[in-house]
Amino acid sequence: MSAPSYRGRFAPSPTGPLHIGSLIAAMASYLDARAHQGQWLVRMEDLDPPREVPGAAADILRSLEAFGFEWDGPVWFQGRRGEIYQAQIDRLLEAGFAFHCGCSRREILEAARPGIEGPVYPGTCRDGLAAGKAPRAVRLRVADQDVSFEDRLQGRISQNLARELGDFVIRRADGLFAYQLAVVIDDAEQGITDVVRGSDLLASTPRQCWLQAQLGLPRPRYMHIPVAVNTAGEKLSKQTHAPALDASQPLPALWRAAAFLELEPPRDLLAASVREFWDWARAHWRTEALAGQQKKPGPGPVDRI
Ligand code: GLU
Repeated sequence: MSAPSYRGRFAPSPTGPLHIGSLIAAMASYLDARAHQGQWLVRMEDLDPPREVPGAAADILRSLEAFGFEWDGPVWFQGRRGEIYQAQIDRLLEAGFAFHCGCSRREILEAARPGIEGPVYPGTCRDGLAAGKAPRAVRLRVADQDVSFEDRLQGRISQNLARELGDFVIRRADGLFAYQLAVVIDDAEQGITDVVRGSDLLASTPRQCWLQAQLGLPRPRYMHIPVAVNTAGEKLSKQTHAPALDASQPLPALWRAAAFLELEPPRDLLAASVREFWDWARAHWRTEALAGQQKKPGPGPVDRI
């Protein structure tokens, strides 16, 4: 069997119910996959139990179903894949691409200069744990060079990981696997050809490209879409108290998400069935207007559309 020419995915973290921001990400990846006659997978990123809400994963899946999403194949749960992630960490450690770090957060803060996501790791344990230190996190070694990729909407993105971040964590001191590691392993193992997700993850992508190179994994195409923000300009998320969607009334939310994605849904679509909505949306999926949106200061508060 030949590999599909397009396979996309939606990868929610079960930290709360589906809200309009996650519906927009789900819709963009789904429509892009279906418009390319591709497959679309759902993967639950339940990697961080302290941040998760019991029942949220099942709740998200139920909502996706009520909103008319149809995924291909079984849902993967990252929380059950620890052994696979650990095996890749062992490989990276053996190859010398990763190392154990014994530094505490405070020690790093004291020694480091600021970077894109807090302090740039100063390299303290790069050449071996300092005397008296116990291993805590596992970090991936980065090089002082630009890591670049071509985003379908945002154009060429480059980042020098050594200057902006330093060697980054792939297994946390509390033993949890880092999102960056798990997402790269799973995208490759699931044969994902196209990642469509919110532009809040744009800053993570160079790290993911670097990890792919270190692990010898293929790089998917990337498209980062605008993220929905509230009137205060904050990304809609559980942390910013984005309200749960009413899955018993799917059309208003589907319509709003389509409008946010610049598909210009006609008003009468609000009275359509879920199936009619998706038939319309699949036929009208395009990304040109979204590319234009990047030139505006922001996508605009979602509650004003
Ligand atoms: N789990 C991430 C989130 O909910 C998405 C990760 C991804 O699409 O790569 O924001």
